[in-house]
Amino acid sequence: FVSKTLAAFAAAATLMTGVAHIDAAQAEGKGTIGIAMPTKSSARWISDGNSMVEQFEAAGYTTDLQYAEDDIPNQLAQIENMITKGANVLVIAAIDGTTLSNALENAAASGIKVIAYDRLIRDSGNVNYYATFDNFKVGVQQASSLVAGLKERFGDGPYNVELFGGSPDDNNAYFFYNGAMSVLQPLIDAGTINIASGQMGMDTVGTLRWDGAVAQARMDNLLSAHYTDKPLHGALSPYDGLSIGILSSLKGVGYGSGDQKMPIVTGQDAEVQSVKSILAGEQYSTVFKDTRELARVTVGMVDALLEGGEPEINDTTTYDNGVKVVPSYLLEPVSVDGSNWEDILIGSGYYTADQVK
Ligand code: BGC
Repeated sequence: FVSKTLAAFAAAATLMTGVAHIDAAQAEGKGTIGIAMPTKSSARWISDGNSMVEQFEAAGYTTDLQYAEDDIPNQLAQIENMITKGANVLVIAAIDGTTLSNALENAAASGIKVIAYDRLIRDSGNVNYYATFDNFKVGVQQASSLVAGLKERFGDGPYNVELFGGSPDDNNAYFFYNGAMSVLQPLIDAGTINIASGQMGMDTVGTLRWDGAVAQARMDNLLSAHYTDKPLHGALSPYDGLSIGILSSLKGVGYGSGDQKMPIVTGQDAEVQSVKSILAGEQYSTVFKDTRELARVTVGMVDALLEGGEPEINDTTTYDNGVKVVPSYLLEPVSVDGSNWEDILIGSGYYTADQVK
C-alpha cells in the first residue's frame, strides 16, 4: 500500500511539474518565430519545419510555419505577412536567395531579426546568422562516393560520367558543385573520367528549382545524343529528387537490367524514396543532413538574438552574401550508401526500419 501510494504521489508530482513547465513557457511568451520554408514537395523541408516547430515550442516560442511551393512571389507574400503580424525573428530557407532584399529591409525597419536557414540569403545586410551544413563538403562527399562506386562497379576506368547541378538561384548549388569538382576535375584532367557531352559548369548543368522532371528530360537527351554507342557509368546528382528523375531515365533505356549495369548515381537528403532505392540497388548513395540538428542550432541562434548570450558559430569567413560575411554554423553532412545506411539513418532514430523497407 505504502509503495503504491508513493508511486501515485510521484506520478501526480510529475504531472504537476509538467503542467507548471508548460504554463511557465507560455507565460514567459518568448515571442513568435516566422518560419518560411521553400516547398513541401521534398520531404526534407517537411522534417525541417516539423523539427523547428517542435523545438521552438518546447523552448517557449510561438511559431508561424509557412511553405511556398517553390513560388517566389508566394514566399515573399508569406514573409511580408509575418512582418505585418509582428514576428520577432524570421527563419528563412529562401527559394531564390537573391529576391529578399526589400522584404528584409522592411523586417529590419520593424526590428525583426533574420536567420538564413540552410540556404544563404544574398545581397542583403539584414541577415543576422546563417545555420547550415558544410555545403562544400557535401559536394566533396558526393563526388568521393561517385568515384568509389565507379571503381567498385566498373573497375579501374576510364569512366563515362555526366554532371548535374542544383538550382542556379540557390547559393548552395555552387558550393555542392565546386566541392564535387575539387574531387572530379583532377580525374577529368587525367582522362580517368570522361564527360562525353562536354557539359560542365553550373551555367550548363544547373537544374532550375531542383526539379526532378527537368533532370530526367536532360538525362534523356544526354543518353540519346551521346550514349547510343557506349555505356554511361555514373551521374553526379546533387539531390535525391534529381536522382529519382535521372534513374527513371536510365531505367527507361534498359540500364539496371540484363548486362547493362546501373550507373553510379549520387544524391542528397536521405529522402525515404531514395533510401529505398539504395536498398534496391538503384541509387548508389546520398548525403544525410540531420534536420533535427539544424533546428537545434537555429533555436540557439534565436535565443541569442532575443535573450542575449552566445550563439553557436563556427565559421566567420565562408559565406559572403555580397554585402556582408554572415556568421555561420556549419553542421557535418554524412555520406550514406548501402554499407552504412542502417547505422546512420536507423541508428540515429531519424527513420524507423519500417519507414524505409
Ligand atoms: C539544400 C539541399 C536540398 C536542395 C533541394 C538545398 O539548398 O541544401 O539539402 O537537397 O536544396 O531542396
